[in-house]
Amino acid sequence: MDCVFCKIARGEIPARVVYEDDKVISFHDINPKAPVHVLLIPKMHVENLKEEIPADVSYALIRGIRETVKRLGVSEYRIISNNGRGAGQEVFHLHFHIVAGIEIPPATV
Ligand code: 5GP
Ligand code: ZN
Repeated sequence: MDCVFCKIARGEIPARVVYEDDKVISFHDINPKAPVHVLLIPKMHVENLKEEIPADVSYALIRGIRETVKRLGVSEYRIISNNGRGAGQEVFHLHFHIVAGIEIPPATV
């Protein structure tokens, strides 16, 4: 599949990997918007949260956030996930932005 994040998951495109297990992988964003800006993805291809995700993968994503921030040495962080083009999604492989190291204002809607 011609998906940049699938290629990173398969090791076909280089990335600065932070954490990896059999179901998820996290790596530094190529264009960081904060001192810490890491992306966590499932290795299986799902476009975004509108799609069904197996329970074990859902759990692995939550665990992957925890393992990633542990390796980064950060204890306070924000998780962002853009779902759909209108919400700012540019890469259509589910990912969570893990952002830290900047003064983050309260979330607004
Ligand atoms: P989105 O706007 O879809 O929520 O976020 C996509 C993110 O993926 C952007 O922050 C962008 O910088 C990052 N990105 C796009 N292509 C690559 C890539 O090839 N490698 C890495 N490490 N990040 C990428
Ligand atoms: Zn993909």
